[in-house]
Amino acid sequence: MQHHLNIQDNSSLQLIYEKLVQKISDTVMITEAENIEAPDGPKILYVNDAFTKMSGYSSTEVIGKTPRILQGPKTDKQELKRIKQALQNFESVKSTLINYSKQGEEYYVELEIIPVAFEDKQEKYFISIERDITQQKLFQEAIIKTHELNKKLFESSPDCLKLLDKEGNLEHMNVNGCNLMEIDDFNFVKHKKWTDLWPQEAKPAVQTAVDKAMNGENHHFQAFCPTAKGTAKWWDVLVCPVLNDANEVFEIISSSRDITNYKLEEQRKTDFLKMVSHEVRTPITSIKGYVQLLQMELKANNSPSPSINFALERIDNQINRINKLINEILDVSRLETGNMVFNKEIFSLNKLLQETVADLSLTNSSRKIIILQNDVCQIDGDKNKIEQVFINLINNAIKFSPENAIIEISCKIENKQVCVSIKDYGIGIKETDKENLFKLFYRVEETAKNYKGFGIGLYLVKEIMNLHNGDITIESEYGKGSKFILQFPIYHEIS
Ligand code: ADP
Repeated sequence: MQHHLNIQDNSSLQLIYEKLVQKISDTVMITEAENIEAPDGPKILYVNDAFTKMSGYSSTEVIGKTPRILQGPKTDKQELKRIKQALQNFESVKSTLINYSKQGEEYYVELEIIPVAFEDKQEKYFISIERDITQQKLFQEAIIKTHELNKKLFESSPDCLKLLDKEGNLEHMNVNGCNLMEIDDFNFVKHKKWTDLWPQEAKPAVQTAVDKAMNGENHHFQAFCPTAKGTAKWWDVLVCPVLNDANEVFEIISSSRDITNYKLEEQRKTDFLKMVSHEVRTPITSIKGYVQLLQMELKANNSPSPSINFALERIDNQINRINKLINEILDVSRLETGNMVFNKEIFSLNKLLQETVADLSLTNSSRKIIILQNDVCQIDGDKNKIEQVFINLINNAIKFSPENAIIEISCKIENKQVCVSIKDYGIGIKETDKENLFKLFYRVEETAKNYKGFGIGLYLVKEIMNLHNGDITIESEYGKGSKFILQFPIYHEIS
């Protein structure tokens, strides 16, 4: 339905239109529709207040002049040609141009020129309506610049960068990425599911990363994936969500760094340690055998020489220490190469804890190891490996606390989990060291010279716990003592 202004008096109506045009926020300029080709034409006949505000020219300054005074070096010449052509044909035209104010400042305008003619008077005019769109344009330019900068960063990265859509399909890969992956034509992999391009063993890690990114989280993993031409490569991969203005994930970005050389270096080190350990193990086993033979001979011949007995016992102890180290190094190499064998069974954790404490109490009479609580519980795991975890932690508690100190142990069922804690009243651990203790070969520098060790035990403990879907945490007060807390998923609770 149309509404008409019901004013009968034409002069009143003209007054209203005049006021409207004068005060409207868009600029209005009326020019004659002649002399389009002349350098000083067509002449401006009227401008409204908004024109003065936008251009800086008062109406008296521009009336009689040509609109070309608004043009300048950056005004698009092609576009002006097109406008002129339309005006010559007396057609309306729309455009976007750069204008110049009286002070010489550039501003963007969106304009529409409408030709009007009064049939009776044979008069013709052009009405030009302009709107300042400088802010809009600057914003658009800033977005384009940011976009270009991002594109440059994306392309110049030495890593393999990929954009995936929300479904995890490959949409884009930078040139360096194509080179690293030995992909000659990206179109062969474009739109393919990224997870499908990985070997079977790596797929779960890749899928987890994609799922997390779709959930808005960053995720990091390392995995093996040969290139398109089959070159063996290891990758360190970071997967991140890209959010839109509404904070929704609309793309995923993944950055893969080639760490093959680093992995090979690690592999060489592990292989070397493994080889040395195996080489040392053979003579050590043989020495241990001879020591035991000598001990038996001495006993059988009833020749109690305290000094010889003592020496043989010492040799046996030292051999045990070397054996322990060799076994730990071999375990590290097995873990790093994924060759650690787990013989899982359902066993009583509280029983294993009790037996281990009894064994260690026998050989460490100078410490009082007390079990405060031992809830009956079963877990599904490798008994020998869990025993190794208990031995490592209790031996550390012994090693890092003074003679006659108490070591408190408990096994409690809490929230459908088993919590085993080993608490000592020893030297304690500083907050800054806590997070590093589980790193391979890490030892607290300050105390390293006073206590023998290699910094392998806690690394193995952490890895074994991870492989049992468990966890280990530390509570400690420096100078007062430490508490190591193990958490296992419970298999079955016998009440
Ligand atoms: P190692 O004891 O052979 O050095 P671990 O990996 O078992 O290796 O322990 C790493 C380091 O953690 C130790 O060198 C020690 O500095 C610290 N640590 C471990 N257990 C304790 C503890 N109960 N009290 C204080 N410090 C400890």
